[in-house]
Parts: sequence; C-alpha cells; structure tokens
Amino acid sequence: MEDLARVLKHVDIKVATDSHIYLKDPDICKDCAEKPCTLFCPTGVFYWDKHLNITYEHCIECGACPFGCPFNNIIWTYPPGGYGVEYHS
Ligand code: SF4
Ligand code: SF4
Repeated sequence: MEDLARVLKHVDIKVATDSHIYLKDPDICKDCAEKPCTLFCPTGVFYWDKHLNITYEHCIECGACPFGCPFNNIIWTYPPGGYGVEYHS
C-alpha cells in the first residue's frame, strides 16, 4: 500500500507485545454495514476478512478510533510506556 508506506516513512513505532486496541464486542462488527473503521484509520489498522482484524502494530496514535466507530465499539488507549509512535521528518 503506497499511502501506508508514505505515512510510516515519517514515524518510528516501537511495537508492544500486546495490542492497545480492543473491540468491546466483535459480534457488533458483523452487523456494522459500512465498517467505517476500515476507512478512517490513516494507516489501515482495521480490515475485514471474515471478522475485523486489528493490526495495532501500524497505529500512529492519531486518536480517531474513539470517535469514528458509530457503535462506540473500539477501546483505544495509548501503548504502554516506552512503546508506540515517535514522529520525525
Ligand atoms: S466501525 Fe466499529 S462496529 Fe463497525 S466494524 Fe469498525 S469497530 Fe466494528
Ligand atoms: S488511533 Fe488512529 S492510527 Fe491508531 S488505529 Fe485509531 S485511527 Fe488508526
């Protein structure tokens, strides 16, 4: 994905062992017709393949998750201390 490569070129991500992004109820996603999370995330963290997959390793901590899901189904926190994204030019 060319856009993803362009965004990730400007960040370093120290990936934690565990995800900092969770679903409250994965079954809700099955009935979510538009699945906007697969569109609003700038680095494509969410993708649908039989169920909602979350590639938390690509999260650049833009903070859109808690606001973008129409069912308030995403729990997003910052990665634990020392992990996560660091921006550079
Ligand atoms: S927008 Fe929310 S409910 Fe819909 S698929 Fe994404 S996480 Fe699930
Ligand atoms: S915080 Fe931003 S970059 Fe991270 S998963 Fe949510 S929308 Fe994607």
